[in-house]
Amino acid sequence: MPTRRLLIRRGAFAAATTLGLSFIKSQPAEAAATISKQAAAYQDHPHHGDECAACCMFVPGASTRCTMIEGVISEHGWCKYWQSGPADTCS
Ligand code: SF4
Repeated sequence: MPTRRLLIRRGAFAAATTLGLSFIKSQPAEAAATISKQAAAYQDHPHHGDECAACCMFVPGASTRCTMIEGVISEHGWCKYWQSGPADTCS
């Protein structure tokens, strides 16, 4: 038969686990993207051959996004933060 102390520990663990999981679930995929297209001088076409698809902040998918710029972007777009590298690999 479990002791009262063991039941309290189990309850605290279950509550902490539930809170942790609900916090993780509530984080939207684009949470890190914080700069507006206007502030980044985003354009929907390449710039001197550079485009979002070749930028390390590009996140390919059904609704194309990047880790820096808010909203949906074009894989052929560009902004002043463009950085060469494989998609979604910037640190
Ligand atoms: S160039 Fe890079 S940082 Fe700028 S919008 Fe495209 S993917 Fe995002």
